[in-house]
Order: sequence, then structure tokens, then C-alpha cells
Amino acid sequence: MKIAYDFHIHTAASPCGDEYMSPNNIINMAKLNGLQAIAITDHNTCANCEVIMKLGKENNLLVIPGMEIECLEEFHCIALFPDINTAKQIEQYVQAHMPNMKNRIDIFGHQSIMNEEDEVVGEIERLLLTASGISAEALFEQVRNVGGVIYPAHIDRNSYSIISNLGFIPDELKIGTIEISKSASLQMYKTKYENITIIQSSDAHYLQDISEEGNVIEAQSVCVADIFKSIDDYYKRHI
Ligand SMILES: [Zn+2]
Ligand SMILES: [Zn+2]
Repeated sequence: MKIAYDFHIHTAASPCGDEYMSPNNIINMAKLNGLQAIAITDHNTCANCEVIMKLGKENNLLVIPGMEIECLEEFHCIALFPDINTAKQIEQYVQAHMPNMKNRIDIFGHQSIMNEEDEVVGEIERLLLTASGISAEALFEQVRNVGGVIYPAHIDRNSYSIISNLGFIPDELKIGTIEISKSASLQMYKTKYENITIIQSSDAHYLQDISEEGNVIEAQSVCVADIFKSIDDYYKRHI
């Protein structure tokens, strides 16, 4: 079946995420846009995933816990996890390898933790917008080891992308999936990367940026296990 998705959505926990990127607003906008599955991918944290997963369940919308992780090579990767516990495990691992710098709210913005009433219940003190110091190879291995999937984010962009930073996709990473931005040409990337699954997500930092129905992935059913089978197919066939 075809599943309408958006697997790259920030919340107010990301310093660059708008304050209106709250749990209920994200769920409501995704439902309004006809999406069936979304992933919450804040920078180097999964602090708001659990509450949004709960609301998703109540609203018949699959919410996959995820993170946008910056590796040592300074490009962004989207990691999606089978459940919240594995997400937290990798969050700990990533944060242990990040410089322990305090966020400057006046420069970077708030990093808000929210509850299911959309109230701010906490502020993440350490700065999340930093490289993790973990090589891409080690990061990919760790995420796959816990049953997650991982792929390079917005490869069409001029900054923080695998192509802008390395110039190519290294074989060692056994990449089966790449992400392109909302504005990139899906057809062009399909032609360029024939054997690779291409995910086109919004990288929404504002509510109005969340994808409208249109990006679809083929999977057997709307569940994490089936969606992961579609996402990392190439990698599984080559190990
Ligand atoms: Zn990014
Ligand atoms: Zn992002």
C-alpha cells in the first residue's frame, strides 16, 4: 500500500524549531495534510518524541521516534528508531560524544520540552546544534545495531549534506536510502540513484512546512517494521 509520510519534522526542542511546533499542532497539521506516518527528528535529541507518539496513537497517525544527528564529518543524518527506548539509547550515545556547551537562547532560541497539553515543561540546557564527534561509519553501525534505520539528510543542500561535505556517497556506509529536500526534483534523483530508495521529507521547522499528501512510500502496512523494510531494503540485501 502507499503511505503518505513526512519523516523529517522538528519540534520546539530544536533551537531553530518554531515555538508553534508543539505536539498537538504537529499532529493536527499532519492529519489535516492527509499524512499517515510521520517521524519526529529534532537535532540530537528525542525529548519530545514520546508525547507526540502518544498523541499520534490517539489520532490514528503513526509517529516514528527519530533524530537528526550531525556526525563528525558535519553532515546531517536522519535516524529512525523502532521504539522510544532505542531512540533514548542512541540519544545518550550521541550526547555523550557532543561538546558540552550551554545553549544561548538569545542567539539560538529555546529548546523546549512540551507535554501533551502543549505546555512547556522544560528547557534543554545544552546546545543541541553541534556535531557529535562520531564518525558516520560508527554512527550508522550503532543505529543499525539497535534495529533503527539511518540515511543522509537533504543531500541536495549546499551545507550539512553528505554531498556538500564529502562530494560522494562512500560504499562503506552501505547506504540504501537517501533524503532529498521538499524542493528537489524527485524524478532527477530517481534517475541518478537507481538502486537507492529516495525519501522526500519537509525538514519542517514551521507548521506550514509540514508535507502535504503527495510523498508516498510503498509498504505492506502502516507500522514501523513494514516501513523500515521499505527504507533500508538495499542495505539488507547487501550484508
Ligand atoms: Zn539538517
Ligand atoms: Zn532538519
